[in-house]
Amino acid sequence: MIRPTTQQRKNWQQSQRAKGLCRSCTSPVSIGPLCEHHAKLDRDRTKKKAQAKKEQIIAHYGGVCAWPECGVKDLDMLSLDHVNDDGAEDRKQFGLGTRFYRYVVKQGFPDRYRVLCMNHQWKKRMTLLRGESLPQFLAFSSACLV
Ligand SMILES: [Zn+2]
Ligand SMILES: [Zn+2]
Repeated sequence: MIRPTTQQRKNWQQSQRAKGLCRSCTSPVSIGPLCEHHAKLDRDRTKKKAQAKKEQIIAHYGGVCAWPECGVKDLDMLSLDHVNDDGAEDRKQFGLGTRFYRYVVKQGFPDRYRVLCMNHQWKKRMTLLRGESLPQFLAFSSACLV
């Protein structure tokens, strides 16, 4: 198979767009520059990549909820928690999900994050809302167990 050059691919994509056709086949566009089929493939690929990135990061921070005796390891139920509760700033800048996870990697996995399950994220928030202090173990970073 002959691989097209970047320029050739660009030209092809441009002419496809001009005709209202998918960037990757000859079907009409549906979503963005892609047909329904390729848009779905694209979405799936993006989702898989995001999932792999999350897995890598969660694993780096221990891969399990940091709350004592919790033990939740289900990736879908885990997320990164900000040790100093300075998450609002990061969220404003990076949103949730892929961009944020990329940012964590780029920073070189700083100590100010740790893994909590959704329940314990909530528990932490409720505890703070009630004006109670967090359990001792949450006052310092238990991140980076690897
Ligand atoms: Zn297509
Ligand atoms: Zn937990």
